[in-house]
Amino acid sequence: MGLILKGKPVREKILEELKSREERVLGVLRCGRDPGADWYLKGIEKAAEKTGDNIIPVSMKSDGDIVDAIEQIDNLKRMVHGILLLKPFPENIDMDRMIREVGPDKDVEGIHPENLGRLLLGNPTSIPTTPGAVLEMLKFYQIETEGKHCVIVGRSEVVGKPLALLLLLKNVWDATVTVCHSRTENLEEITRSADILIVSIGRPGFIKRRHVREGAVVIDVGINEAENGIVGDVDFDDVKDITGAITPVPGGVGSITSALILKNLHSL
Ligand code: NAP
Repeated sequence: MGLILKGKPVREKILEELKSREERVLGVLRCGRDPGADWYLKGIEKAAEKTGDNIIPVSMKSDGDIVDAIEQIDNLKRMVHGILLLKPFPENIDMDRMIREVGPDKDVEGIHPENLGRLLLGNPTSIPTTPGAVLEMLKFYQIETEGKHCVIVGRSEVVGKPLALLLLLKNVWDATVTVCHSRTENLEEITRSADILIVSIGRPGFIKRRHVREGAVVIDVGINEAENGIVGDVDFDDVKDITGAITPVPGGVGSITSALILKNLHSL
């Protein structure tokens, strides 16, 4: 069986490194209650306890609109080093507008257009958190990317696309990158040519043994609710024997993202 790439030691190492730095303040804006958001915020709070950073949570009224949201963001901006927009927000609230209001200098999620533009130009500052978590995983377990074929399945704005740009960074990751999506032909053929296969599609257990080359590293970004609990996009039991290394779900990439929020907070 391949090496199991657990996220916890990666997370601990990131937090340990941040501990020695001057403390920072993170503002978290949310609207109403959501179990997923509660769980994510708890993870960030626990991480901040370890690093000594402070969190200012602000809740908007559940029937709040974009005017309220902008007012809250403007208030927060004066008090904090970075702002997290904790989803979900009501549909009537324009998320793009909110992100622009947060601005590039307070963008701990690495999703402001200016920060994404910097990433495209090869000079990222705030790194999108889930792609950042994948890279931290590769770094921690010393998985070589230079010249390797990294196949990413999924082209979302939050994971697949920014991850492809990061892995292409010259003199940093230097990978050869292929991005696949729902219209890709011969998906199996392409995924089987991967040295490193990264999957972010939101389909429980979609990637099977037939998609994976023997000895490949498999990184599963998927978080899906199934009958038997949270599962990834990779059928872990079907695939694990032939991989060189594989991330579990839960306990893999997802456990690192909250640490990345704080890492970005310290880099702004
Ligand atoms: P998303 O916005 O849900 O988009 C899914 C992507 O997968 C799209 O690009 C889609 O292709 C592609 N896709 C869907 N079915 C496919 C198929 N059969 N074959 C090939 N490609 C297919 O993606 P996301 O936001 O990246 O989320 C994906 C998963 O990651 C979800 O389970 C989510 O919960 C999880 N996630 C985890 C974290 C974390 O911290 N670990 C963070 C974010 C998301 P098209 O573009 O052609 O539609």
